[in-house]
Amino acid sequence: MKTGYSIRTWRMRLFCSEKQMIEATEDLYREAVNFYYELLKDREDLWEENLLAIQGQLEKLTVPGKDGRVPKYIPPGGKLPVYFRRSAMNKAAMAVKTAAGAESFPEKIDANITFFKGMYRDLTDTSVVLKLWNGKKWIWTECSLTGRPFPKEAAILSPTLVHEEKWLMFHVPVKQENSDARTAKERMKEGTRICSVRFTNTDSFAVCTVLDEQSIPLAVKNCSGGKSYRHHCRELLKKIETSKTYTDKDNITQPNRKYYMHLKHLNEHYAHQASKEIIEFCKKNQAGVIVLPEYEENFSRISMYRSGNYSPLHLSIRIRNYLKYKAWAEGILVLELRADGTEKYCSICGSPGKKQGSLFICRNGHQVNRFLNAARNLGTKCQESFRRNQKTAGNNSGNTAID
Ligand SMILES: [Zn+2]
Repeated sequence: MKTGYSIRTWRMRLFCSEKQMIEATEDLYREAVNFYYELLKDREDLWEENLLAIQGQLEKLTVPGKDGRVPKYIPPGGKLPVYFRRSAMNKAAMAVKTAAGAESFPEKIDANITFFKGMYRDLTDTSVVLKLWNGKKWIWTECSLTGRPFPKEAAILSPTLVHEEKWLMFHVPVKQENSDARTAKERMKEGTRICSVRFTNTDSFAVCTVLDEQSIPLAVKNCSGGKSYRHHCRELLKKIETSKTYTDKDNITQPNRKYYMHLKHLNEHYAHQASKEIIEFCKKNQAGVIVLPEYEENFSRISMYRSGNYSPLHLSIRIRNYLKYKAWAEGILVLELRADGTEKYCSICGSPGKKQGSLFICRNGHQVNRFLNAARNLGTKCQESFRRNQKTAGNNSGNTAID
């Protein structure tokens, strides 16, 4: 079986008793990044090179050689540890590449420090030892970490120190082997089960169904919580409104910040929950592909506007994004397919019908939950489009979402 990999960021809180050393190290890092950035700005010939090649050139310009080469430029502090300076060089190189692409060079680069191997050791999910600068010398310093434990058998990549609010965070990229990297085409050919999803603006964030190869529904899942999400958001919005009357004239940039942060956490919490439930449902029913509905851009904009900012349907944007990375880590593929019209015909017999409350009723009298009806139709539509594509192999004009 083919395998691939995914990289996710583990966000952890970092506690360090040596605040000044953290600051001194960050200051030096920023100075170093800007030092290399200035050098690179004048070297247009390097902008298209890869990071390693740029690193090599910068080393030649700024580090004495064993052959007695005298560097043309001296970095801040005179001499920087090799992995510290390489990390700073990479940051500067990426900043220059981005700036060149955008044709606009910022005055200064405000970079978060990324710890390459050699700048940290003994990283576990509860502690790490960092090499920090105290203004005079480098000192290995133990810091503690809190957060979710790392997944098993994952490779840990270079972590970055990030300030969020008053917290020091440690963002750790975690690389996981993916158990199944077959393409959608290969999966569908092998008769994989698919899970199709309909997002709604009711108490259900999503109604999902798993179909077998013959489009026969095997299981149904309702991800509820929409009402309580809406309720929690309303409570917070009320608090924001009330507090506005007290802080309106105050010279504070964002007086309601704590409520907005709370709203953000609510969004994250419910979106994580719904996406997790969908993934669990797929695993339980061995679905190898998830199909999400896509709509015409104007239609999406209008329906999002109508449903309002803190509504279950609006949260589907975030649920969709979470689903994509969570599914990938589990070896499940996510496809998006136009869903226009899938709510207008019967998933049992195909004849037209109409909605009546939460039901869809067709001309032949079949009654199905209307969201489930649309979800089934979307799944079937997806399977049919693959079958068609197989028949017309070599014709690549099909839907790009399923190639
Ligand atoms: Zn019917």
